[in-house]
Amino acid sequence: MLGPIDPAGLGFTLPHEHTQIALWHVQSRWDYWQLTRDETTILAELERFRSAGGGSLADLTLPGVGRDPVWLAGLARASGLNIVMGAGWYRNAYYPAETLIDRRSVDDLADELVRETTDGVGDTGVRPGIFGEIGTDKPWLAPAEERVHRAVARAARRTGLAISTHAVMSDVGLAQLRIFDEEGADPTRVVVGHADSYPVLDHYLEIIRRGASLEFDFLGMSFTPTERHGEDRVVELICELLSRGHADRILLSQDVCHDSQLKRYDGNGYVYLSETFLPRLRAAGATQDEIDTMTVGNPRRILTIG
Ligand SMILES: [Zn+2]
Repeated sequence: MLGPIDPAGLGFTLPHEHTQIALWHVQSRWDYWQLTRDETTILAELERFRSAGGGSLADLTLPGVGRDPVWLAGLARASGLNIVMGAGWYRNAYYPAETLIDRRSVDDLADELVRETTDGVGDTGVRPGIFGEIGTDKPWLAPAEERVHRAVARAARRTGLAISTHAVMSDVGLAQLRIFDEEGADPTRVVVGHADSYPVLDHYLEIIRRGASLEFDFLGMSFTPTERHGEDRVVELICELLSRGHADRILLSQDVCHDSQLKRYDGNGYVYLSETFLPRLRAAGATQDEIDTMTVGNPRRILTIG
């Protein structure tokens, strides 16, 4: 948020989080999903993360669900953390009407993303550091979503920023990769997110075979499929991937996006990974080297623009 930094300074990094987000405005939605915008509360949560050894965090909240460069720059200054802002559009149900995604050309959409990356968002001067989270509502890409995926891939080629996706409870990550591939995007610069919501080893191996990375980012959530499948299963699958030598393709995060996840409301906050999940992974056999690769090395590689 405060300008480019040496990637070596990122340290322990959460690659997929939110610091405020509102998903309640879509017509006919029955829920009121929200992480309330409250600076005092969030700064206390971020301070816990920093005290637990945290260095950096990527906020993948996009336009339409609350992205705000001024808010994020304020948090970066006050927390002392490196905060990285996302760019792009989230998924069909949340595309901002005024963006006119259904009627602009793919190149025009890509131009807008490139402009943000070079000139900053609006007149804030703040530039995004990653494209994401780029997603689908369903286990397939809707037409408008396909356009966004193509635009993001073209912008990624032109800017060198990585892409982080929202691919939930299905193998839709492979469909996302196919579009990125058709557009000539570098698969090693793509992170397929929410892998823990679809705990299928063969699917993971296929994502890796195609050159991309997997992100287990629902860690510590108490209201998602991860919990239904059970964290034990997630630990087992990550250990299986590690035993096959894939530490360099795994990222870990918590996707804090709801008030109930905050420590203030008896949730796990931004420290579940460091305080609870990593000790479990260690107990299951993961080495410190592998853990450093997943929590420091891989996010550093993904966030290094090039
Ligand atoms: Zn998210």
